[in-house]
Amino acid sequence: MPVDPSNLAIVHYPADVLRRKAKPVEIGSADLSAIADQMIRLMRSAEGIGLAAPQVGLSIRLFVADVPPESGRTDQGPPPSATTGPVVYLNPVLSGHQGAPEPYEEGCLSLPDIRGDVLRPPTVTITAYDLQGRQFTTQATGLLARCWQHEVDHLDGVLILDRMTQMSRLRNRSAIRDLERSARL
Ligand SMILES: [Zn+2]
Repeated sequence: MPVDPSNLAIVHYPADVLRRKAKPVEIGSADLSAIADQMIRLMRSAEGIGLAAPQVGLSIRLFVADVPPESGRTDQGPPPSATTGPVVYLNPVLSGHQGAPEPYEEGCLSLPDIRGDVLRPPTVTITAYDLQGRQFTTQATGLLARCWQHEVDHLDGVLILDRMTQMSRLRNRSAIRDLERSARL
């Protein structure tokens, strides 16, 4: 089914598409770059650093990221902890998780008003395809490594609600309930 990218919009929990395991994209498919462009636009206007296709209602393995350098962080790699502009990842696979999991407060454009501590290993490697069909493998740490793990979770139907500490879940209980309630109206 062809997609009109101008109709894409960010969907919120508890939309079903956020819980589905997304399907691989066809590498080299012509409509992916228009979808990715629109996703980058939506990510920027929402002031996010990453956005996965299920978050715009598309159950396909594609995400975009634009991670700025962390303020106050002097060790900017290698491996990098930021991107140098927006990057598109097709059919991404994570490997080589390194280091003891660290807590960090994450938010999600599909979970407005919810933030919680999520434990993730600080360093990870990603293998993916770009829009030209070229495969690439890179390692990252810090905020970029965290962003990759958060976005690949989206492609598997996993949300920060599933990963946040019990304390964070309790703290966000009423915000989660509000989202569930507003979806039923
Ligand atoms: Zn998210």
